[in-house]
Parts: sequence; C-alpha cells; structure tokens
Amino acid sequence: MFHKILIRTYTSQRIIFSEFGNPANVLKLESYNIEPENGKVLVKMLASPVNPADLNVVQGVYPLKPKVLPDSPGAEGVGVVTHSESANFKEGDWVLPLNVGFGLWKGYINLKDSELIKIDKNLGLITAATIQVNPPTALRMLTDFEKLQPGDTVIQNGGTSGVGRAVIQLCAVLGLKSISIIRNRSNLDEVKAELKGLGDSNTVVLTEEEFREQRNPVKCQLALNCVSGKSVIGLIKALDNSRTLVTYGGMSKQPLVVPTSNFIFNDVQLKGFWMARWRTQSTVKELETMFSYLGSLFLQKKLVPPKVEQIKLTEFQKAVVENSSGKYVLVFD
Ligand code: NDP
Repeated sequence: MFHKILIRTYTSQRIIFSEFGNPANVLKLESYNIEPENGKVLVKMLASPVNPADLNVVQGVYPLKPKVLPDSPGAEGVGVVTHSESANFKEGDWVLPLNVGFGLWKGYINLKDSELIKIDKNLGLITAATIQVNPPTALRMLTDFEKLQPGDTVIQNGGTSGVGRAVIQLCAVLGLKSISIIRNRSNLDEVKAELKGLGDSNTVVLTEEEFREQRNPVKCQLALNCVSGKSVIGLIKALDNSRTLVTYGGMSKQPLVVPTSNFIFNDVQLKGFWMARWRTQSTVKELETMFSYLGSLFLQKKLVPPKVEQIKLTEFQKAVVENSSGKYVLVFD
C-alpha cells in the first residue's frame, strides 16, 4: 500500500534582476512557486531592509554579486520557519538567514540549517530585520581596532546613518564619548536633538561647518569613516598619534583624501572593515554570542531600531531610488 506524500507548493513573490544596472530600471516583482527541499529549512521571509549595499549589488559595483542572473538582492532580514527537517529549527522559529550579500528579497527561501541562526521574537519585526548588518558593524569597529578605555572619544562622519546611530548608542553603553559629524540640513536642530537623544551627556553632534570652525578640538582615540572623500581630512586631524581611522563606507563616492603630514608625522593608522568578511571568518557560536549581546541591548532599550518606513513588496520602487531620503524595510505578506 502506498502512502501519498503531500508536498505543499507555496506561491509567493520575489524582487529579481536579470541584468546589472540602475535598480529603479532593472528590478522587477514576479510571482513564483516554491516547495520545501529535502534536508533544508523552508523560511518565510517576514521583513528585509533596503540598505545602500543592496542597491550596489544590483548596480554590479559591490564585490559580492550573483554568479548567475536572475537573482534577488537583499543581504539581511528576518524570517519564520515554515517547514523544517532539521532538529535545530522548528516551525514558527524566527531566524536570521546568514546571508552575506544578496538573495533575500523573496517570499520563501529554502536554506541549509547552517545558514540560519535563531533570533528572539521579543525583539520585534524591525529590530530583528535590521540587527544583522549595522549594529554589528558599529560594535566590531568600536571593539576590534583600538583598546578603548571609558572616557575615550570616538569621532565619526555619517552620524545620521544606520551604522552611525548604532555607534552613538554603543558609545554610551561602553562609556565612550562620541562626536558625530553630519551634513547641514533644513531640520538641523531636530536631527541633532534626535541623535543626541540616542546617546548620553557625552554625545556631541556637529555639522561639517561647525566641526571645521572648532578651536582646540578634542583629540580622539578612534575615527570611523562612512563617507570618504574630503570629509576624512577632519577626522584624521582629530586623531591622537598612532590611532586608527576605520573606513567602512564611501557614501560620497570619492576616494579617501588623507593629509600627508598627519599620515607621516602622527603615524595615523588606516584600516578598512567589512562585515561580510568578518561574518564569513566567524563561527556560528561567535555570531550567536554577538547577536545575543546586541539583542539584550535592544531588549533593555539601550539600542533602538532605526526609524524606517515599512513598505510592501508591490511598493519596492519607492525604496530603490538612489539618494532617496529615508530608510525602508520591505515587509512580506
Ligand atoms: P543609511 O542609508 O542608514 O544612511 C546613509 C548615510 O549616508 C546618511 O548618514 C547620509 O547622510 C549619508 N550620505 C548619503 N549620501 C551622502 C553623500 N553624498 N555625502 C555624504 N554623506 C552621504 O546607511 P547605512 O548606515 O546602512 O550605510 C552607510 C554606509 O555604510 C554605506 O556606504 C554602506 O554600504 C556602509 N556599510 C558598510 C558596512 C561594512 O561592513 N563595511 C556595513 C554597513 C554599512 P544624510 O543624513 O546627510 O543624507
């Protein structure tokens, strides 16, 4: 006698690109069918942010790119286990796919259990969806490059960025002073108040102009560069001798401009950081320990998720326009 095995087919939607180019032109929404695969965990994606690197993948200018197209962007997000043959995961668990570049803007995905870690549902949708890239980047840069002591000062540009906001909050947690440089804007007072509100009484927020006009600026023990270009000059000049500038972003799309004299006479150290590299070099245990630490800070409200606009997949065009103001999170139906 034969038992009929029913394999459920899920019909869902995904955002794909078939050629590299302007995300607004090459990204398309399509329907697709998917079934659980033997030995894999079927994950229903719940939410995934649109980060600058996702757009760079689609443009073909990011070091990680799909070998075969079409594929989907999406480097981080949270999903729920829908079908599992793994003893490590059960239906209903919230998971972070340990993706390191792309592929997550899909309603459902089959993944190996080694490509997943569990995440606490109490964190809520937006925190869980955005915990994997920006907060760990901030944490690693604050802890892995300089042996900072409480009371030391960290300076950064791109203070309004997701990473920058996490830096401000983590500096307060670690007893560090922070100076964040931001671009001038019409609602400057509001943005400054918001960023200062993320930190503590040792949190300073300055525009690029205010920073340049400072007399006797404080010497800093670590500098974090999100922007590159000429913006780096001020950061380097603010660094103490033999201290490190860590570059993690190039939002200005300009190369680093480094004053020669500080490089030679002050022995300034220039390093780069890439979360994707750190993640591939880490064990699952190290990742779980880090996400558990960051998760506990979110649960204690010492870290808060970024302000985002939640949008449906059908509205994705709004989020992929370059230089769009605001941060978007795709929420899957
Ligand atoms: P967000 O989308 O949250 O913020 C973007 C930031 O860039 C804002 O502070 C914005 O400032 C600033 N910005 C935008 N355009 C320019 C410009 N032309 N000149 C100067 N500043 C500009 O970004 P994320 O925090 O998600 O990412 C920030 C950068 O960090 C990106 O380059 C990203 O790829 C990189 N990154 C790198 C990681 C790594 O592992 N190396 C990990 C995570 C992020 P404003 O408010 O004035 O518009």
